[in-house]
Amino acid sequence: MPVKKQKITAQNAYVEAALPLPLRQTFTYRVPAALQEDLAIGTRMTVPFGRRTLTAYAVELHDVLPADFDIDESKIRDIIDILDEKPLITPEILELTKWAADYYASFWGEMLKASLPAGLNSGKVRPKRRKAVRLLDRSPSTDAKPLTEQQKAILEALRGVGGEALFADVIESVGGGASAVNTLAKRGYLELYVEDVRRDPLKNGGERKYQEITLSNEQQLHLDSILSSLTPKAAFNVFLLHGVTGSGKTEVYIRAMQHALSLGRTALMLVPEISLTPVFSRRLQSIFGSDVAILHSNLSAGERFDEWRRIRSGDARVVIGTRSAVFAPLEDLGLIVVDEEHDPSYRQHESPFYNARDVAVMRAHKAGAVVILGSATPSMETFFNAKKGKYTYLHLPERFGGRGLAKAELIDMRDVFKRFGKDVALSPELLDAIRETHERGEQSIVLLNRRGFSQFVLCRMCGESLKCRNCDITLTYHRRDKKLLCHYCSYKEKVPEVCPHCESEYLYFVGEGTENITDQLAAKFPSLRIARVDRDTMAHKGEIDETLLSFAAGNLDMLVGTQMIAKGHDFPNVTLVGVVSVDIGLGLPDLRSAERTFQLITQVAGRAGRGEKPGRVLIQTYYPEHYALRHAGEQDYEGFYAEEIKYRERFGYPPFYVLASILIKHRNAGYAVKNANLLRGSLDKANRDKASRILGPAQASIARLKSEFRFQIILKSPNRKRLRETLETALADAEHRGCDMRTIFVEIDPVNLM
Ligand code: ADP
Ligand code: ZN
Ligand code: ZN
Repeated sequence: MPVKKQKITAQNAYVEAALPLPLRQTFTYRVPAALQEDLAIGTRMTVPFGRRTLTAYAVELHDVLPADFDIDESKIRDIIDILDEKPLITPEILELTKWAADYYASFWGEMLKASLPAGLNSGKVRPKRRKAVRLLDRSPSTDAKPLTEQQKAILEALRGVGGEALFADVIESVGGGASAVNTLAKRGYLELYVEDVRRDPLKNGGERKYQEITLSNEQQLHLDSILSSLTPKAAFNVFLLHGVTGSGKTEVYIRAMQHALSLGRTALMLVPEISLTPVFSRRLQSIFGSDVAILHSNLSAGERFDEWRRIRSGDARVVIGTRSAVFAPLEDLGLIVVDEEHDPSYRQHESPFYNARDVAVMRAHKAGAVVILGSATPSMETFFNAKKGKYTYLHLPERFGGRGLAKAELIDMRDVFKRFGKDVALSPELLDAIRETHERGEQSIVLLNRRGFSQFVLCRMCGESLKCRNCDITLTYHRRDKKLLCHYCSYKEKVPEVCPHCESEYLYFVGEGTENITDQLAAKFPSLRIARVDRDTMAHKGEIDETLLSFAAGNLDMLVGTQMIAKGHDFPNVTLVGVVSVDIGLGLPDLRSAERTFQLITQVAGRAGRGEKPGRVLIQTYYPEHYALRHAGEQDYEGFYAEEIKYRERFGYPPFYVLASILIKHRNAGYAVKNANLLRGSLDKANRDKASRILGPAQASIARLKSEFRFQIILKSPNRKRLRETLETALADAEHRGCDMRTIFVEIDPVNLM
């Protein structure tokens, strides 16, 4: 009789692994005996998957296989290795990412990966270490062999600096002698060791001293209201702090964060991608010192890794960061601030989709923390929640110190066209204002929402425009590179000499971009020091920091740029903001284009007149009667909200309906359509009572992108539960009926429907 194989019953014999792939399920692996002791929930491990080796996350441990496990045990594979000594992922973040994956119909493994500092799984990011030297207490008299002069000098130098120094510094101070240091170590005079070096993202750049200020009565009132919820015990509450730009919201955030720390709890502040100003991070650092950690995408991989480890170890108790910082492993979180809560950059635009603002509210709910959502132009959803009493509404209607808000003056570009008989990009009104501003020695900001030189190239003979070969998108001319560039897939080509469609020579460049406007302004005002701020000029780490700090210091006169310069910054000497073009979006059929335009203009207008001097805002527009423009000009949020909310209700948009956008993508258009129709059938079946509304499949507004054809189905449901049910039932049914799920991409709460 064969010997019966011994059944493995040790602890941690099996592990559930979440893989960073678009897969809904987790996978069971066996843990070799040698690794069982080191394995804990939340650690990363390497596992075999097909023929590949992947980094996976341990999300659950089993001593024995679950009873309902229906795979042949011999098929279970072993994990290869464990990557972390201590679990990287805390139980709280494990639960939060699971929730987020479910909520966004997304994937747990991908969400976990997104929660960790980028580049971590590449294996290339490691702690930075350097060699150091420490003096030991050994008296030379007990040593038979006399010391050389150089050895004595080394010991002397070490004593002089308190007994510890970097290896390199010791060598430098005595002018060489690495072998002498090593000999001294061997003979027991010193010891060599390695220490971790923190790569500090704020190490360069001026210190800013924090000035203690006294809050105004209104600020104090709101702070008190927040602090009454922010107690040593867990108590969830969401506040909307609605205050015009410059009303002093930031001072309220800072006080609330200080309070959370004083309770022994931690604080997280989220900021939009771009408005993470170098000035602001330094201000926080001057208040919180090394308690503060910074997380954003402009950090080097090493800096990000070190900051993240300081959070995980509990050394950093305040985090300021962009989108993915919502998953920062802070423990006993007392407060989350989401500044500019309406900002679209909180939305992750690729899988896994999530909105950091909404995840923040859920995280606080689970952790018993207080949330402050701050904005001058709250999103429709947030303001709606405040009106319903779901969020506590706090209002700061005026700028601090009674400084007037700059009124925006609309310049009707149709009028300018009539006067000139042709299109001009810069109206005489704006040019005059620029001249006057700089004659007074003040600064200006000029905004437009397209980068490059010309937005597209048009043939005057046949009327065709030059398009990307991979996408249904016109190519943008970039003069610096002498190239036509696709802003969606980065495809590049030389500017053709003749039209590729009809071979005429009449190619015509249409729609000025930042590069072009900067050139025009530089030609008109040769003495001005102008910097361009957009994705092309700010491609390198540190460039945007440098430009903004230089502008703040008065070494530049004017910034020309895209929405990168619209938000968050506080430049007291800026007295003019000119908006060249932001309203092209209003012509597009998107549910949020009015809201976006209103927000952008209000934000950028808020950059003017932040100091002692009053400011002016000039907006060039082809739609002066549009309600988004009218209310933005008046800086009238309530007026805008009242009109916009009616439109949302009439068309079944958020906050009245919950949306899902389902994209069906494939290189073969017919195949995409086939799968789209299959899914539509399943959705109809799942929606028999017609509680949800289903639109499509229709060609997406970008019909082809990166060589794939795109079709879209929109699902609108009266509530979230209903949306999830319909979607889940339909997806399962479609898969069952042979739909190729690799072509299907679901986005819950899409930011736009394009
Ligand atoms: P917001 O975040 O609403 O745009 P800030 O908090 O940046 O506004 O405040 C705008 C300006 O007013 C800043 O220069 C800030 O230092 C100043 N400020 C705000 N509150 C006070 C106060 N209580 N005392 C003195 N200065 C203040
Ligand atoms: Zn042509
Ligand atoms: Zn393209």
